[in-house]
Amino acid sequence: MQAALSARALQLGYWHRVTSRLAVRDSRREIRTFTIGALLTAMIWSVYPVAFLPGLSPDERAVMTAIITGIAGGSTTVLAPSLLLAVAYQGILLLPVALGFFALGGQENAVLGILGIVCFLTLSVSARIAHLAAIQSLRLNLANRRLMDDREREHQRTATANEQLRALQKALEEANTDLEHKVTDRTEKLLNEIRERQHYEQELSRLASTDPLTGLGNRASLIQRIHGALAGAGAGSRLAILFIDLDDFKEVNDVRGHHAGDLVLAAVASRLLDCPGQPEDLARWGGDEFVVVLRDLDGPGRALELAALLRARIAEPIDIGGETVRIDATIGISLYPDHGDGHDTLIRAADLAMYAAKQQRGQRVRLFDPLLAEQVAKGHFLGQCLSQAIADRKLTAVFQPIVSVTHGHCLALEALVRWNHPEHGPVPPSEFIPMAERSGDILALGRWMLMEACRAAVQWPGEAPPAVSVNVSATQIIEGRLVEDVLQALEQFALPPHRLHLELTETAFAGDNERVAPVLAELRGRGVRISLDDFGTGFSSLAYLRRFPIDTIKIDKSFVGGMEAESESIVRAIVSMAHALGYDVVAEGVEVESQMEALRALGVEHQQGFLFARPMPAGQVAAWLEEWSPVSLPSISRS
Ligand code: C2E
Ligand code: CA
Ligand code: CA
Repeated sequence: MQAALSARALQLGYWHRVTSRLAVRDSRREIRTFTIGALLTAMIWSVYPVAFLPGLSPDERAVMTAIITGIAGGSTTVLAPSLLLAVAYQGILLLPVALGFFALGGQENAVLGILGIVCFLTLSVSARIAHLAAIQSLRLNLANRRLMDDREREHQRTATANEQLRALQKALEEANTDLEHKVTDRTEKLLNEIRERQHYEQELSRLASTDPLTGLGNRASLIQRIHGALAGAGAGSRLAILFIDLDDFKEVNDVRGHHAGDLVLAAVASRLLDCPGQPEDLARWGGDEFVVVLRDLDGPGRALELAALLRARIAEPIDIGGETVRIDATIGISLYPDHGDGHDTLIRAADLAMYAAKQQRGQRVRLFDPLLAEQVAKGHFLGQCLSQAIADRKLTAVFQPIVSVTHGHCLALEALVRWNHPEHGPVPPSEFIPMAERSGDILALGRWMLMEACRAAVQWPGEAPPAVSVNVSATQIIEGRLVEDVLQALEQFALPPHRLHLELTETAFAGDNERVAPVLAELRGRGVRISLDDFGTGFSSLAYLRRFPIDTIKIDKSFVGGMEAESESIVRAIVSMAHALGYDVVAEGVEVESQMEALRALGVEHQQGFLFARPMPAGQVAAWLEEWSPVSLPSISRS
């Protein structure tokens, strides 16, 4: 009995531990163990009265019955959850005792036996009621627990959800901040890109409107400026366009190289920028041409003043890498609205005025004059006529003697071209030769003159007939085939080479050295003599000219004209230098005896000019040579 109770106590303890640890578990094994334990306990208890009932006193029986009944009664509530177990438990406890009482016999015992059965029935009923109540309570409990569990789970879910929500929110905030940073970065980058693009665009438009060499505005920007100025010009207000062209800039380029030319252009540009007015109204028109726009004028006065000022500034010495260059400029001026109402007419008018000023030596600033347009139109017309005249052989050659003022003989005759236009009359070579040089007609003209000169020269009488001196343009050397042309002319007319002289101006030497020098050397090697024409008007650098094969220097007529005045010392210097270097000297443009005398006194033996003879047609030369005698010049006859 005690062992059974101990086992059950242990089981109870175990049960409590298990249930406290796990909320829900499969407890069928424990229930089975408990049921067996309970039933065993009941059986042990029931053995007791059945075995010992007959030997007990009535009092002992009463006590025992009370205990058994008490235990059975107690089980009503204790075993209430399992109705079957409770009824079985009570039955095992009570029914053997009741049967024991019946077995004792006697009415009293039978009553007790019946009471025992009644008691069992009553307890069974109460066990059922207790069972129902217990089940109800358990169910409630269970429901309650489930509710609690649900709540707990819900709570936990909410907590987890909240946590997740918070994490999400945090992630969202982080993503947001990240995004904001990215947006800020991107915006910054975009702004930078926009700024950069704007900068490039500005730079591009600046470049598109700027001349890269001088930094001044270019043609396009100038045209825009003029448009703006014209639109803003009020009634009665005038505008001036100054067209500036550097003089002999080509020579700077040819002689000193393009880099030096660039330096000169840049220096001129910076000087122009220093002058008053808006720098935007200043532009490089092209090559060595610059244009200035002057606004708000009431007449040409201020424009003429500024032109003079600009010329003076440009004329100041320019230092290019240690060397000093001086450059002059010619400026043409046009006025709005007097000479045009658009940028093109105004610029053309100023350009024309500049061109006209260049034609007239001495005048370097010129205001446009409507007559100029006519002249230029005529020039254009003449240019076309000239090509035709060359093709139609309508030009003629005249010859002017070069004589020796010591021995009286005629050394040579210079061949000079003449053009008599059917409508305009005689056109001076100074007008049409530059035209022919620009158009390229000079090649045909020069070739034709060589032929005419040789054709004429072979007709000249005498034992030692004079030579013929032919003017040759630089273009003929550089672009033409001068050697071939000369040889052909000499051969065709069987003229000995020493009877042909070629006259070249300094610009021919200033040009393409590498091509000019060998051509001259070849011709000279064949016996043709070379003269340097118009000496003193160009570079006049004898040291420079030393590099070229030259026989004669022709002193320009401008010096001869001034012989009585300051030119004398210049001529003296030229002559002594030329003689020292072994050159022959010819003076041209000798018109009066005093000039001839003065030149002769300086040692200039060969002279040319109206004093001796005017240029004459080929047909008159022979007669002139026959007639010409040194005696016709008193001073020569004296010598
Ligand atoms: P140039 O070669 O210096 O020719 C001399 C010029 O001076 C000629 O003018 C001549 O008529 C002129 N002259 C001669 N003596 C006197 C004088 O005593 N006083 C004055 N005031 N002038 C005098 P032209 O014939 O009008 O020729 C002008 C220029 O045209 C020439 O200057 C020459 O550079 C050029 N030229 C003439 N014919 C030809 C040619 O066939 N070919 C080339 N390339 N140029 C030519
Ligand atoms: Ca000449
Ligand atoms: Ca000359």
